[in-house]
Amino acid sequence: MSDTAAARSTEDLCSSCGMCCDGVLFHSVELQSGDQPRKLSALGLKIRKQKGVEYFLQPCSAHREVSGKCSCLIYEDRPARCRNFACRQLRGVLTGEVTEEVALEKIRSARAQVAQVNALMGQIAETNPNRSLAHRVANALTLPKGAEQTPLHDELKVSMENLEAFLAKDFRV
Ligand code: SF4
Ligand code: SF4
Repeated sequence: MSDTAAARSTEDLCSSCGMCCDGVLFHSVELQSGDQPRKLSALGLKIRKQKGVEYFLQPCSAHREVSGKCSCLIYEDRPARCRNFACRQLRGVLTGEVTEEVALEKIRSARAQVAQVNALMGQIAETNPNRSLAHRVANALTLPKGAEQTPLHDELKVSMENLEAFLAKDFRV
């Protein structure tokens, strides 16, 4: 695949997806040597440091989704991990093992499952939108003392397990 075709495929897939930026696939991104924490902070990323490791949480503050189209506000300056990451679908399209249509269908399916998880979670509890989906679901499923599990909790648990299995098989690398 030519560089131009690869860039076009990446744009087609990633602008329809955003799951490696919005907290669905990851809860944080570690900075790598060569990344410039000060510059990234100035660009709006909230860089944290723990045990010498610099990182930022997801959903990423540079991620935007408008009318279903995703973008990175700091694309040209994004950290190394972001630059180097390609999920299973994107890799498949870039190597020619997967067609763009198949990859886009997988993305649609994953996003539909994410929407279902969010809808169920919204019926159970208010959770911090600045945390990863897995973290928020875990919070929603943590019952206050004395509270009983409802069928909605069971449904959310199963939906999240199904989503995680789908992501593990078709997106995580
Ligand atoms: S998960 Fe894959 S297709 Fe989706 S935005 Fe990330 S690299 Fe692109
Ligand atoms: S910096 Fe850009 S590419 Fe990296 S996680 Fe944030 S929105 Fe995604």
